[in-house]
Amino acid sequence: MTKRGPGRPISENKKSVHVPNRMTREEARMLRLKAALYTGTNTSELIRQAVVAFDKEMTMPCMEAGCHSLMLLKTISEPIMLNIAGVHHEVLLHEMPIYECPNCGNKELDVKFAAEVEKVVDEEMGFMLNQRKDLPTELNFRELIII
Ligand SMILES: [Zn+2]
Repeated sequence: MTKRGPGRPISENKKSVHVPNRMTREEARMLRLKAALYTGTNTSELIRQAVVAFDKEMTMPCMEAGCHSLMLLKTISEPIMLNIAGVHHEVLLHEMPIYECPNCGNKELDVKFAAEVEKVVDEEMGFMLNQRKDLPTELNFRELIII
């Protein structure tokens, strides 16, 4: 058995995705120096650790007329319609984050976020199809943001 060092868990899908990013010179300097300090110059490892550790309280102003409250993130179960290799497939995504106003009950789903979630779910289905796995009819958003 080979000894593994620190880092992300062994995956079926090892380092197969390149994530492009654009940074200022100062941000790139910070990335390189923090990687040198914390991960032995491995910038990919530093980014992985930072993404895993990232968590933030999110709010959004309520757009309902006369309501001046801040909306908070709650979760719902949201159906996602996909077209996989020409076949309609529906996935019920549980714990999908959505903004909800604690004052008036208004709910808002960020369009760009929803589009990105749909793209990720579609990619996951494609990956499962290529692995000859059965396609699930239900997923949990939380499972998509852990490794
Ligand atoms: Zn409101």
